[in-house]
Amino acid sequence: MGAPSQRLAPVADSFGRPLRDLRISVTDRCNLRCRYCMPREVFGRSFQFLEHSELLRFEEIALLARAFVALGVRDVRLTGGEPLLRRDIERLVSMLKATAGVREVALTTNGTILAHKAQALREAGLDRVTVSLDALDQRTFQLMTDTPIAPERVLEGIEAALAVGFRPVKVNMVVRRGVNDHCILPMAERFRGSDHILRFIEYMDVGESNGWRLAEVLPAAQVRALIESRWPLEAIDEEPLGTVARRYRYRDGGGEVGFIASVSEPFCGGCTRARLSAEGHLYTCLFASRGLDLRGPLRAGAGERELAALIAGAWAARRDRYSQLRSERTRVEAGGGGEGRRSAKVEMSYIGG
Ligand code: SAM
Ligand code: SF4
Ligand code: SF4
Repeated sequence: MGAPSQRLAPVADSFGRPLRDLRISVTDRCNLRCRYCMPREVFGRSFQFLEHSELLRFEEIALLARAFVALGVRDVRLTGGEPLLRRDIERLVSMLKATAGVREVALTTNGTILAHKAQALREAGLDRVTVSLDALDQRTFQLMTDTPIAPERVLEGIEAALAVGFRPVKVNMVVRRGVNDHCILPMAERFRGSDHILRFIEYMDVGESNGWRLAEVLPAAQVRALIESRWPLEAIDEEPLGTVARRYRYRDGGGEVGFIASVSEPFCGGCTRARLSAEGHLYTCLFASRGLDLRGPLRAGAGERELAALIAGAWAARRDRYSQLRSERTRVEAGGGGEGRRSAKVEMSYIGG
């Protein structure tokens, strides 16, 4: 077990939201080029990814995690880019699991190499896996992810995760109107009655490179209505704070399904999540344009207490509520309206989804 972090007073931001969850991006690289995240025109051969020396080392991540835990963080999620591309990621998992105060370590992956990694991740103590999968057929999968890799490889990854004991595996599907919305019912059918929970995610205006248009957002309420037209649903009671998915169960016992309505029904009021980029910058919102450099002070010798003080200062000053403001500017429910005011935002592959 790691040395217990000295518990400090939990911090709250300027709207009273506590700091509870930490997303850690372990790399800004990925083996896919999902058009809604890393379009090839921008993330092509000449794109400058972070150098290895710029990435936080595992020991540095573990130290920062202790500082976050001291301020109230309980749950940690590893993401990216594609986190399974980071060599020996399972070693980081076990370091985080050994950090006193960390309740749960989870990971979000595109699933393409999960079949090879599932066993090692389980043995390292990983608690949960979420796999992204936007379509079951090769043509639509390719349209979404811009890769020749077959969706079956992701399905194999999901089954491998299940086989080593991750249960349920959550499956995230980003829905783009006119691109993969015809896959909603086939995806629901595929994962109904399985040990997996499918969650539909509204296409978001993260970053500056995906050419997001409001017209391509299919509001979660419409996705839900489509599913209900075939399989009636009932709502599951939710925890009030920090929940992003609206949870439903199939009335016929087919299991659970979730809807993440970040655009049409923003949840900024309960957002308790901090993000640490692969190079050690702290972001207090997915749509932020600037982060706070923690790697500089860390490499200059700052310890857990000093780092916690920097994080606490940034969190206390936090006023982020981008999605709420976006929704006040636009009328998503009407499926039209303006595109909203745009500001230079950090890319999702860098900050971690
Ligand atoms: N590479 C991993 C993966 O795809 O699962 C982890 C990183 S990825 C940035 C995390 C999540 O963000 C994925 O579920 C992905 O589908 C989602 N995502 C990326 N861009 C998005 C967008 N523009 N709108 C909604 N979700 C998005
Ligand atoms: Fe890669 Fe995940 Fe972004 Fe797709 S969503 S490009 S898999 S980081
Ligand atoms: Fe949290 Fe920012 Fe998303 Fe609102 S827009 S829920 S503050 S990450």
